[in-house]
Amino acid sequence: MRFLTLRIAAITALFFAQPFQPDANAWHDKTHLSVAEAAGFDLWYSAAAPDVAKSKEMFGPVESPNHYYNNNANKRVTPEMVMAQVERYNQTNDDEGHLYGAIIGAVRDYQAMKKSGKYANYPLVYCAHYCGDLSMPLHNTRYDDFNKQRHSINDGIIENSVRNNIGYIQRMMRPPVIESEADLAREIAAVAESARKLGLKIRRENRDMTVDETYAQVIRSASLFNAILSWLERTQTLAGERAAAITN
Ligand SMILES: [Zn+2]
Repeated sequence: MRFLTLRIAAITALFFAQPFQPDANAWHDKTHLSVAEAAGFDLWYSAAAPDVAKSKEMFGPVESPNHYYNNNANKRVTPEMVMAQVERYNQTNDDEGHLYGAIIGAVRDYQAMKKSGKYANYPLVYCAHYCGDLSMPLHNTRYDDFNKQRHSINDGIIENSVRNNIGYIQRMMRPPVIESEADLAREIAAVAESARKLGLKIRRENRDMTVDETYAQVIRSASLFNAILSWLERTQTLAGERAAAITN
């Protein structure tokens, strides 16, 4: 019996001693679903799927670096920094990550697929998820001991309440106006900056995010994704109207 107890203790110790993988975590599933649902996305129930895809990447991660940007130099996030990451979308061997470029990369994939008449909604599922990750402070700051130790708990701060608060998120949303990729880059930088600053604050105060701070972040994500959806919808409708005008 004693042996068994020791063994359980050893296994438990091993389990908790596993080095944390940045690619194994993000806001937990329900938080991601709620961002996408509040933003008004039909496929909101798939918004955690990019984390499912990521979980199978033992060798050659393609998806993981799309989910974070380790801002090691702790630089202010600018639209230029966002645009410089676009080419890195789906690039492997990028420990630094390229979350900001991934959002634009997914939008471009959607636009290209839509143009060629393909079913184009899966890139939007990725976009919904990346917009969620964008407001998470620990996806926007250095992957240090603080990040490793507190990542999982901060991913789950509102996990138990968020599905009941979609209406609250929607009432608090203030979607920015997006009319171009340049507007999108500016808005990505703004959300990233809010997350970076909050990441510095909780480090300074050596604590986890509060529930209020977490909702404020998730509301920024939902606002951004809502603005992206309405921008894409408008450009699509315009493209459709132009095509109809030409055929008529
Ligand atoms: Zn993620």
